[in-house]
Formats: sequence, structure tokens, C-alpha cells
Amino acid sequence: MTWTEDDSIWMRRAIALAHDGEALPGKNPIGCVIVRDGAVIGEGCNEVGLRHDATAHAEIVSMRRAGANLACEELRGAVLYTTLQPCGMCTMASIWAKIGRIVYGAGREDVHPMYFEDRHLDTVDFIRDAFRQDLSLAGGLMVRECAALYVGPDADVPKEEQVNR
Ligand SMILES: [Zn+2]
Repeated sequence: MTWTEDDSIWMRRAIALAHDGEALPGKNPIGCVIVRDGAVIGEGCNEVGLRHDATAHAEIVSMRRAGANLACEELRGAVLYTTLQPCGMCTMASIWAKIGRIVYGAGREDVHPMYFEDRHLDTVDFIRDAFRQDLSLAGGLMVRECAALYVGPDADVPKEEQVNR
């Protein structure tokens, strides 16, 4: 996969948002930036704990902000950058929002399995197959920096400390 200079600029911004999330109670170190025509239209980090809202993933938070900013629920032509491979909910929401391209940093293999909603099926593969024409999806941009935000794939995390257990 070849990335443009802009891709790296936006991912760097998503990583900075993830660090903000890491530092704030109720937020989590997943950052997202939605860009259209060279400008940020929505961005944020995971606010699940802050909002007591299981859907407040960084991507959903950012989509809601973009929709409010533009007073438009369709984000055609936008690119969504996220530090961690988006879950099935966020990938589907991107399709509903008409986002044409998703770029993520760390993928499933780069982090602990506790971050993903289903341990046996990669929902992104399923969605990519089912909606091939609607969505371009690519991961691995700045993967080292992104993966460093999360617990590693082989870490021994006690069950009660696992998110999403
Ligand atoms: Zn999600």
C-alpha cells in the first residue's frame, strides 16, 4: 500500500487525538479524523466511558461532529482516518454516511484481541466483501506508532482487566 503525504499528516493528527483520549478520564486512546477537500470536517477520540454510550467510538463521535458541522448526514468524498481498525459498527456507519475511504493504522494482528467485538470473524473482511464497490479500506499506515497506543497481541491481560470481555 502506498500512502500520500497527506495520509501521514492526517494519521498523525488522529494519533494526537488518541493521546488526548488516553489522558482524559472516560475517554480511550482511539483517535479519528474525517477529512474532505483537504480540511477536517469532524474528529474525536473514543468517548464511551465519558458519555456512558457504547456507540461513542472515535469514528461515530467524528461522524456525528462532521454531520453537525456540515448540517448534512452524507459525507460523500470524505476520508476517515483512525488509529485502530474500525469495528463492524463503525465500518457500517461509514457506509451509511457515504464515506468512500477508510484508512486505519493498527490492525487486528497488531493489538490484543480484546479490542475486537468478535474473536473469530474479522467483520471488516465481511463488510469489505459485501460492499466492495462502496468502500475502499486500507490499514497499516504508521502502524508502529498506532500499535504503540494499545496492548500488544501477545500480552497476558487478566480477564477482569480486559476491555470488551
Ligand atoms: Zn467502532
